[in-house]
Amino acid sequence: MAGILVLAEARRGELRDVSLELITAATELKAKAGGELAVALIDATPERHAARLAAAGVDEVLTVRSPVAQFEPHVSARAVEGLIERLRPTLVLAAHSIDALGFVPAVAATGGRGFLSDVTALGWDDGPVAIRGAYGDKLVAEYDFPGKATTLLLLRAGTFAPAAAGDGGGGARVTEVAIELDGVARTEHGGYREVPAGDVDITKADFLLSIGRGVEEKDNIERFEELARRLGATLSVSRPLVDAGWVPGARQVGQSGKTVKPRVYLALGISGAVQHLAGMRTAETIIAVNTDPEAPIFGVAHYGAVIDMFELADELEQALD
Ligand SMILES: Cc1cc2nc3c(=O)[nH]c(=O)nc-3n(C[C@H](O)[C@H](O)[C@H](O)COP(=O)(O)OP(=O)(O)OC[C@H]3O[C@@H](n4cnc5c(N)ncnc54)[C@H](O)[C@@H]3O)c2cc1C
Repeated sequence: MAGILVLAEARRGELRDVSLELITAATELKAKAGGELAVALIDATPERHAARLAAAGVDEVLTVRSPVAQFEPHVSARAVEGLIERLRPTLVLAAHSIDALGFVPAVAATGGRGFLSDVTALGWDDGPVAIRGAYGDKLVAEYDFPGKATTLLLLRAGTFAPAAAGDGGGGARVTEVAIELDGVARTEHGGYREVPAGDVDITKADFLLSIGRGVEEKDNIERFEELARRLGATLSVSRPLVDAGWVPGARQVGQSGKTVKPRVYLALGISGAVQHLAGMRTAETIIAVNTDPEAPIFGVAHYGAVIDMFELADELEQALD
């Protein structure tokens, strides 16, 4: 088979959402890539998630039983080597995640294969074409991989819409793949340590009211926080407000913050730097409010208003009263 292999990801027994995003990316390329689309899960109990991974467009779900209960990079590396030997895929798609970063580059390097991390868009031109930011996202760079029989790409979570999960009734074959993995693990999982979540998870919000440097002063933030609360929105921010120590980092949207995909993203006083856009451009509806009609945020907004955010806040507060 010279097709596409997706590496689904599970952590602590849960299938990670990015697995379904990878399937979307793969199905979009499948016709051009030719061959089959296989989705593999390497896990202690991979069969638990096989039905969900059998989404539309998937030809085969491969379950690879890991001898260790939690992710271990050497086990995954060996398993993926085995899968590549078996399937000979042109393209392998995995998440740009902490787990995949721990072994996919090694699989690519040892096999002399193509590799790129943090990919945000894909194409096909006689082989895979991958797009990602360069020089701190100041440039958008396009990469191809001439002469590589297999290329492994890590896709940024949140940039592709998740495929509808399979319900067990789809047409995909489910195959248990036996790969010798005993004794491969070189590390032992010591346990998970919870990261302080901050006061809120902006990645789960349906409606984000996001403020930027247009807010001018720390003292003005409370007003927009209250406005967000009254509108049923969650407050998020651009990076300068975090750098100034005005708002916790958990609320930052962008390349070095969170990637969000709310139904509505209302951006007030945010210019729309590429690093900010990297975290929110796939929101369903983007509404931009800025006094500068040339602000780049208007380039991605579905609706825009060239007005003062404080005047808008006056109007909204009156309407809510
Ligand atoms: C490696 C790297 C990573 C980065 N990561 C991130 C990231 O994750 N997230 C992020 O946001 N940034 C990030 N940045 C910073 C980014 O480059 C920008 O500096 C930042 O996004 C700008 O924030 P801003 O739009 O709030 O401020 P500004 O660019 O200063 O824009 C403020 C905007 O408010 C408008 N405005 C002013 N007053 C009003 C008013 N009264 N009413 C309405 N509009 C008004 C102005 O016209 C202007 O467009 C990163 C930079 C680098 C180099």
